[in-house]
Amino acid sequence: MSQVFILVDHAGGHITKATSELALFGKRIGEVTALIFSNESSPLLEELTTMAVDRAVVIEGINFDSYSAAPVARIVANLISEKSPSAFLVSSTVKGKEVAARAAVLTNSGLITDAIDLTSELVATQSIFGGSTTVHSQVTHGCAIVTLRSNSIEVEATTSNPVVETVVVSVDSLDPSALLDQVISLEATVSGGRPELTEAAIVVSGGRGTNGDFTPVEALADSLGAAVGASRAATDAGWYPHSHQVGQTGKTVSPQLYLACGISGAIQHRAGMQTSKMIIAVNKDAEAPIFDLVDFGVVGDLFAVLPQATAGILSKKS
Ligand SMILES: Cc1cc2nc3c(=O)[nH]c(=O)nc-3n(C[C@H](O)[C@H](O)[C@H](O)COP(=O)(O)OP(=O)(O)OC[C@H]3O[C@@H](n4cnc5c(N)ncnc54)[C@H](O)[C@@H]3O)c2cc1C
Repeated sequence: MSQVFILVDHAGGHITKATSELALFGKRIGEVTALIFSNESSPLLEELTTMAVDRAVVIEGINFDSYSAAPVARIVANLISEKSPSAFLVSSTVKGKEVAARAAVLTNSGLITDAIDLTSELVATQSIFGGSTTVHSQVTHGCAIVTLRSNSIEVEATTSNPVVETVVVSVDSLDPSALLDQVISLEATVSGGRPELTEAAIVVSGGRGTNGDFTPVEALADSLGAAVGASRAATDAGWYPHSHQVGQTGKTVSPQLYLACGISGAIQHRAGMQTSKMIIAVNKDAEAPIFDLVDFGVVGDLFAVLPQATAGILSKKS
């Protein structure tokens, strides 16, 4: 049976939801081995029992969240060369993509990034050019290294009892220059306890139509347990942090539900949200291009529509 490696993405002692999605994609292909880079693996191994994995390899000596991508990629590349899995799956985060790219170079393997689907025959689907083109591709050389966007597959509850193997890595044996992360800038976040933008099942985004007042957008997001996104017009104006920008030069999201409030639907914004499963827009201009791609549209002033929607949702909850 084919072997598949998945890279466990974790932060603050918890495995991300995107990792469970990798396991489900991996299961389509063969036996799933989860690679965990952590010195504190017990809570992670416990969380792994709710995911579709057969084996776990714990790499002690390097923590995924505190080391740069280079040493992680080098160790992954060694494991790929040793075990010859047919695929290595990674979540499409900045760090995940760097690990994937470096591992591809080190193992002379093909790389596909930002896939939204992967078949049992390792055919990946990508949605490109702002979602206007769908590409199906397959790696033809080496291990198929594929990064997958989060929210690409519905996570099903499962239980597993992975066989655990521990590998202790001596950092002394690695190039010291590759061990440190360089922090270029740190941006204050205003997540306010909300889910991470790229992982959230629901995203409520605000644009220039908010005129700088994100209060109704945040209130609606909170009533739905959603993350808050923003158009570039809103982030460039300083109304919301750039870390929340959705689009070509921002983050790519693919939630179950995307609500665009006061956003016109420029191609660069679409590029970051067009693969959302359901799209709803609130815009006072009935001719706004966003209405071309919505499942449901409300022509109206967001300052009137959003509070009513929020009140309706909260009243259903109480
Ligand atoms: C290279 C490049 C990269 C870019 N990358 C990105 C990117 O990553 N993400 C991104 O978003 N953009 C990006 N842009 C910018 C993009 O082209 C648009 O300018 C931007 O998306 C517009 O943001 P907006 O929809 O909020 O503003 P606008 O286009 O000004 O639209 C505002 C909308 O709000 C509506 N509105 C106004 N008041 C209300 C109200 N009270 N209630 C309801 N509706 C109201 C208006 O009818 C209008 O449709 C990029 C541009 C370039 C050139």
